[in-house]
Amino acid sequence: MIVQLHSPTLRLYESALMRTVTSLVVGDEYLLLVDPNWLPQEVDYIHFETEALREGRECYLLFTHSDYDHIIGYGKFPEFMTIASAAFVHNQQREDTLEQIRAFDDDYYLTRDYPINYPPIVHPIGGDARELTIGEDHYVFYQSPGHNADGLLTFNRSRGILIVGDYLSNVEFPFIYHSLPDYHATLDKLARIVAEEDVKVLVTGHGDHTSDREEMRHRIAESRAYLNRLERSVRRNEIFDAAELTERYGFPRLMRKYHEANLELVRQSAADLP
Ligand SMILES: [Zn+2]
Repeated sequence: MIVQLHSPTLRLYESALMRTVTSLVVGDEYLLLVDPNWLPQEVDYIHFETEALREGRECYLLFTHSDYDHIIGYGKFPEFMTIASAAFVHNQQREDTLEQIRAFDDDYYLTRDYPINYPPIVHPIGGDARELTIGEDHYVFYQSPGHNADGLLTFNRSRGILIVGDYLSNVEFPFIYHSLPDYHATLDKLARIVAEEDVKVLVTGHGDHTSDREEMRHRIAESRAYLNRLERSVRRNEIFDAAELTERYGFPRLMRKYHEANLELVRQSAADLP
C-alpha cells in the first residue's frame, strides 16, 4: 500500500485506485480514521495499522461524504464511533450507493470479510462551523455540499489538519454531482478557512496532500476558474474544449466523461431556472 505521508500525528494511505486517500489522525488519546478505502487488501492493511496504534485510544471513523468509494471500507471498523454530516444520515440514495459497491466487487471478483452496509452515524454534524473536542484536540466542521449533497469539511485546529474530501484535488478538476452554486459556496468557505486559519496540511480525497499555502490558494483558484468557464460555455452556448483539461490531468477518456457530465448538470440546472 502506498503511504503518502507518515508523521507521528498523521498518516495518509493512498489506494491504487483513483489515488483515493485514507487519513488517520493519531492523537494521544484517540485515533480518527477518515474514508478507509478501496481494495480489500488495502482496507485490511489500514485496519492492521489502526489495531497496532490503538493502545486504549478512543477510535473514531469519519466520512467526508457518502460516495461509494469513501464508505466502502466501513464494515471493517464496526465498533468505531462514526461521524458525518447530518445530510449523510438523511441520504435517500443509500441503496444505490450500496449497489455501486456490490457491482464494483462483482466486477473484479472481490470478496471482503465484512458486510457492506451504509454507515450508521453516532455523531451527525449539522450546521456550520460546529466545534467538537475529540480526544485532546479541537475540531471545527463545515458543511460542504456541491460535489455531492452531504460533504463535510474537517479542520483539526489544534494540529492544523484540514481534510476536505473531494475538493481541491491536484489530479482532477471539480466533479459536480450535486449543485454548481453549492460548489461555489463550498470553495468560498475553503478560501476563508485557508485565509483565516493556520492550515498546516490540506488533505484532498484524491491525489496529493499539500503543506504549501500558495498551492492551497492555487487549487482554489483553479477550481473556481473551471466552474466559471463551465458556466460561461453553457450560458453562451460556446464549446468548452476538454482537450486542455485532459492534457493537464491525464486519463483523457475518464476525464472527458466527467467533464461531459458536468456540462449536462449545468445545462439542466440552467434549463430549470424560471
Ligand atoms: Zn471520491
